[in-house]
Amino acid sequence: MLKIYNTLTKQKEEFKPIDPPNVSMYVCGPTVYDFFHIGNARSFISSDIIRKYLEYKGYNVKFVMNLTDVDDKIIKKSIEEKTGTEQVAEKYIGAFFQDIGKLTVAKADIYPKATGHMQDIIDMIKELEQKGFAYNVDGNVFYDVAKFKGYGKLSGKKIDELEAGARIEKNEEKKNPLDFSLWKKAKEGEPYWDSPWGKGRPGWHIECSVMSSKHLGKTFDIHAGGNDLIFPHHENEIAQSEAANEQPFVKYWLHFGFLNIDNTKMSKSLGNFFTARDILTKYSAEAIRLFFAQAYYRGPLNFNDELLAAAEKGLEKLGNLTDTINQELSKNITEGVTPELDIKQFEDKIIAAMDDDFNTAQAIAVIFDFTKEVNRIIAKSASGGENINAEFYKNVKAFLERTAVGIFGIMNFNADDNLSGAGIDVEHIQQMIDKRLEAKNEKNYALADKIREELKELGVELKDSKEGTTFKVVK
Ligand code: AMP
Ligand code: ZN
Repeated sequence: MLKIYNTLTKQKEEFKPIDPPNVSMYVCGPTVYDFFHIGNARSFISSDIIRKYLEYKGYNVKFVMNLTDVDDKIIKKSIEEKTGTEQVAEKYIGAFFQDIGKLTVAKADIYPKATGHMQDIIDMIKELEQKGFAYNVDGNVFYDVAKFKGYGKLSGKKIDELEAGARIEKNEEKKNPLDFSLWKKAKEGEPYWDSPWGKGRPGWHIECSVMSSKHLGKTFDIHAGGNDLIFPHHENEIAQSEAANEQPFVKYWLHFGFLNIDNTKMSKSLGNFFTARDILTKYSAEAIRLFFAQAYYRGPLNFNDELLAAAEKGLEKLGNLTDTINQELSKNITEGVTPELDIKQFEDKIIAAMDDDFNTAQAIAVIFDFTKEVNRIIAKSASGGENINAEFYKNVKAFLERTAVGIFGIMNFNADDNLSGAGIDVEHIQQMIDKRLEAKNEKNYALADKIREELKELGVELKDSKEGTTFKVVK
């Protein structure tokens, strides 16, 4: 039974989707004004793992992630880059897709953009106005927070506490400092759309209320985002959607902990950030995903190079097993034995861990235990035991594909893709390995070493063990 910690109720709850086996999930996506940083990547990768686990459990997940393509930061960037806001958004949407592709984050079913939903946004603001939750001051429309009884229920704060702590800029036009913009009157040189309140553009919060219900319904299952969005963004989304639609907005609210640097949130505005594309030049996507998956998604996580290097090192064990499996399977041995291995027991442990509010760290530990056990079995066979047939490797691979690849993305069996991508011909390498073995048998070590060197120049590293010689592609 899957339990999820719900920010709204502040407890772990049994996951009961509204319309099983369908699950509707919305994650706040990037504001497309720059390359995303590795802190943002934590939200994208964590939500990807959660989605993939739900799919693994047999749910049919409809996954929506918005792209915020009208925003102050985009306008600022367009001025800096002396180009239009559309061009800025287009450029960074392209970069976003490239980067999540490299991080093996599965694509959402829909990536709605604010600019593509202007009429829906205007309609929702009109609805809020008619119901008395919005007021217009000279072309600026605000949400009247005092009118919504449940305000503060997500962040767990009372309105007066919020008012006292609000670092929201004072604005003479607002009745209450907590009131927020639904529609912003256009300023000189800014992009605008026509509306019943004059030329302007929507506020950020209304975009998510509109796009989530448009694509997932007025009440949907899961809404996720980084911790920084609980207040005010998600609090405001609830206020807007529940006031307009008169029904609960979201069943389960999930929030991802910050990725910190020296215990301070990584963010663009503080300048303490690394872009995901920079980090990807130093570390593999698998290592970045492992680094995140080894921590609890809700908790804070500190970023530093040593931790990523450690994740990369940890992956070597998995990578070696991948190589062994691929090479054994290519031999397709039908004789021999299928050693006993209780795969189901390992899989049950992964499920138990993940069912407990997505305890990825524990699930990953099970994968490493499994790897250890498989290596033990292989070593036993190599040291005079019986030959292992392909059946065994097939079962091991299928399990790892369902879990390490399918849920976590920390393994990759498509060695051939990597190899051919790197311009490497597997058959040729196998021939060289055979030639080297022959040379070694004839005690011609000079030739054996020469072959090893030649392969190294091709970017292929050999590893000798009792089981024979395997190879891997090095960067
Ligand atoms: P943004 O592009 O700033 O709107 O953020 C996109 C997503 O990344 C949102 O879900 C944010 O909550 C999340 N996010 C931003 N900074 C961090 C961070 N340092 N750690 C984790 N998630 C973050
Ligand atoms: Zn949002």
